[in-house]
Amino acid sequence: MSVNGSSMRILLVDDVQMDRMQLAIRLKQLGHMVESVGSGREALDIYSQFDPELVLLDITMPDMNGFEVSQEIRRLYPDWIPIIFLSSHEEPSMIAKAIDAGGDDYLTKPVDKLVLNSKLIAMQRIAHMRRELKRASAKLEELNDALQQQVNEDGLTKLFNRRFMDEKLAEMLSWHGRHKLPMSLILLDVDNFKPFNDNYGHIEGDKCLIALAEVTKNLFGRSGEYVGRYGGEEFVVILSHTDREAAEMAADRILVAMKDMHYPHDYNQGLGYVTLSQGVCGFVPTGKESISDVYNYADEALYKAKHQGRNCFVISDSV
Ligand code: GH3
Ligand code: MG
Ligand code: MG
Repeated sequence: MSVNGSSMRILLVDDVQMDRMQLAIRLKQLGHMVESVGSGREALDIYSQFDPELVLLDITMPDMNGFEVSQEIRRLYPDWIPIIFLSSHEEPSMIAKAIDAGGDDYLTKPVDKLVLNSKLIAMQRIAHMRRELKRASAKLEELNDALQQQVNEDGLTKLFNRRFMDEKLAEMLSWHGRHKLPMSLILLDVDNFKPFNDNYGHIEGDKCLIALAEVTKNLFGRSGEYVGRYGGEEFVVILSHTDREAAEMAADRILVAMKDMHYPHDYNQGLGYVTLSQGVCGFVPTGKESISDVYNYADEALYKAKHQGRNCFVISDSV
């Protein structure tokens, strides 16, 4: 450990062996871990393996000069670490060029021990702040993702919520309309759910909705298939590239899944398990339908399904 700062991994690049050795000894005396190389090429070769926290870079070198090495490091490794140039030139134009090439500081040779140590501490301070900033922004990004998910998610069932489904429907109407391709929407409503709640209690009702959501979601997990909670005990399924016939098959799969699931419900018209009624729209959008038009057509069909005795689907002929 150095007196004022903590130990750093320092990559030292200088073509003059004598300079390199002297500086390496000083740095080691200050408690740092040093890897010293004689050319820019070698520095780039070992860079990722050594993973330096600071680079001390001579400017005047054969093959690649320090400016080129610095530019290459900045190009290849977007994770910033400090680069300090070393040179016997003191002209302001050189310093300007060094900073322009991606350097953070400039030291004239021979390097004074006290100056060197102070610069290292200053760089460590900046490096520490950068790390903290990066950590904070990663955390923020994580929170943002979680928030975004919450914005689109129904709290109880974890399905997409109405807001998301509305947006998705608008997007799908426009896309399928433009490409003259079919799409479908199925509105689902739990049959006799009020007596379910009245007899088993609201908490059991919630559990039932969660289970129904899970089963429905598992039926439609492919890309272009979206399952959401429309509200209360109603769900909605939107299917891309699906014509009326395919929508009918999807609705049938839902009926079968409910039967297979056999979620107990003793107050559902003597069936003994939870069932759903469905209003189905399968159509090629003309570009004129609004999302509420489509929901209305599906709702009308759903209403008919209820009147036909529930546990069935009706295909809308309005679209
Ligand atoms: P139908 O077959 O005609 O649809 O009859 P229904 O009893 O399902 O219809 P109704 O609209 O009269 O009742 C819906 C019930 O759904 C009433 C309401 O308390 C219940 N419900 C709505 N949202 C929730 C919820 O989040 N949790 C629970 N447990 N119940 C809910
Ligand atoms: Mg309802
Ligand atoms: Mg209902």
